[in-house]
Amino acid sequence: MTRQPASSDTIFGRILRGELPCDQVYADDLCLAFRDVQPQAPVHVLVIPREPIAQLADAGPEHQELLGHLLLVAAQVARQEGLSDWRTVINSGAEAGQTVFHLHVHVIGGRALAWPPG
Ligand code: AMP
Repeated sequence: MTRQPASSDTIFGRILRGELPCDQVYADDLCLAFRDVQPQAPVHVLVIPREPIAQLADAGPEHQELLGHLLLVAAQVARQEGLSDWRTVINSGAEAGQTVFHLHVHVIGGRALAWPPG
């Protein structure tokens, strides 16, 4: 099995360390939210924890509060962006479409969204 890089080595780790710019929409002690560089809808924001967790599959009971916080921030960001309806997505693993191995919650909205995903 191919080992994924430690999430601090990812592009999101570099954003968290201030080494790469981002279009920030929210930040607190636990997480950061910024616009996706390749938006799939009029609103496409990523909410990432400051703690380097590679993917949801790696989260444990010790992350319960943090995961709840990320979802509440996702909802807050959606409202802040003027959305009443939106989609939150967490891809876990390459086959699920994850490309950056630092846990992130997509907040996508501003247009009608089809289901099921591809
Ligand atoms: P995923 O495919 O679920 O791992 O999502 C990764 C997301 O990160 C994709 O939607 C990319 O467009 C986005 N992305 C990659 N690099 C950056 C970056 N530097 N700033 C903002 N979003 C990025």
